[in-house]
Amino acid sequence: MTSLSTARSWVACANGHVDFPLQNLPLGIFSRGGDAPRSGVAIGERIFDLQAALQLGLFDGAAREAVEAMASGQLNAFFDLGRSARVALRERLLELLREDSPLRDTLQAQASSLLPLASDCQMHLPARIHDYTDFYVGIEHAQNVGKLFRPDNPLLPNYKYVPIGYHGRASTVRPSGTAVRRPLGQTLPAGQAEPTFGPCARLDYELELGIWIGQGNALGEPIAIGDAAEHIGGFCLLNDWSARDIQAWEYQPLGPFLSKNFLTSVSPWVVTAEALEPFRRPQPARPQDDPQPLPYLLDKRDQAGGAFDIELEVLLLTEAMREQDLPAQRLTLSNTQYMYWTVAQMVAHHSVNGCQLQAGDLFGSGTLSGPESGQFGSLLEITEGGKKPIELASGEVRKFLEDGDEIILRARCRREGFVSIGFGECRGKILPAR
Ligand code: CA
Repeated sequence: MTSLSTARSWVACANGHVDFPLQNLPLGIFSRGGDAPRSGVAIGERIFDLQAALQLGLFDGAAREAVEAMASGQLNAFFDLGRSARVALRERLLELLREDSPLRDTLQAQASSLLPLASDCQMHLPARIHDYTDFYVGIEHAQNVGKLFRPDNPLLPNYKYVPIGYHGRASTVRPSGTAVRRPLGQTLPAGQAEPTFGPCARLDYELELGIWIGQGNALGEPIAIGDAAEHIGGFCLLNDWSARDIQAWEYQPLGPFLSKNFLTSVSPWVVTAEALEPFRRPQPARPQDDPQPLPYLLDKRDQAGGAFDIELEVLLLTEAMREQDLPAQRLTLSNTQYMYWTVAQMVAHHSVNGCQLQAGDLFGSGTLSGPESGQFGSLLEITEGGKKPIELASGEVRKFLEDGDEIILRARCRREGFVSIGFGECRGKILPAR
């Protein structure tokens, strides 16, 4: 058998696929027609139907247990099985789907039911999300935003000690493609003493990495930093839609509330830690004057390989671009290497006080901006709070998002000698306020 780094699939559309070659195998929940949601694996333009494969007797042992745990049409119970079940399932899927699979002819004969086209299917949230927490680990974003308010002292004193986060709203997380209704709310017009009520005028996106929690912890029992990576079920893209004018008025003293909880979009495929293994990197060294993480956040292995090199992209497609047949325009090209804290540090910190994490909980990384223009993960940063509008290829200008604008997030992992993988898209189009 060929090695995994160069292996191809008999599912021809997977070979060279920009997101879902054989090496990725992300998990998700899909439905066809009016059928109940079921679990599947993205392979090229198709979805390998795990429940259909289970019925054909293609899984044994831990891999079978893994697929059986998804029978409810949600991945929570599968996440709860932890890493070993996930690895067993991946190994079996690689055997089944690679070019030299002994079962190739049998599977190909069943392709119409086993491998529906993704374009014929609808994607759902992969799990029932009990809790959603949004972190703030993108240090460049924290500095860019801090500068708008405190030019001389952009980072607050806790930033380099605490992985900052707040509890978001789980009930309004939706899969890619869900329309974004412009929220109504209170805003304080410049120079006024009293707020007005109406549609948000400063609607924005935030480019984030989403983290699905795998096995949780019992109340009162923290997850140690050395064990934290084992508690991560997978990764996605996350857009933390933000109403900046509502946020500016409401956020003191308890932080964002209605400016964030009207919608959060996620890409529907769960990219596993195993698929991301070739793209792991050491956590970037802290500048010499920065404090070292406190011992409960510091682990040698995590520092040596707990970061990821994932290229993150934001594109904007406006109504005028659609009318003029123009392609979506890139607003942002950033990378997960701008995370000041690793995902393991986020898990360890979140549970260190005994807080319970549960399988299928969702974390957002916080906006992941780079230091240069072109790398900013929100319009707030790109336009400096609306002061510097951007000009688009369509001749339009934008300070913030207009009705009809669609934001598309993409991710790409590349490394010499390895097949590139992606995350699929996270899209959302703005609808006018009601
Ligand atoms: Ca955010």
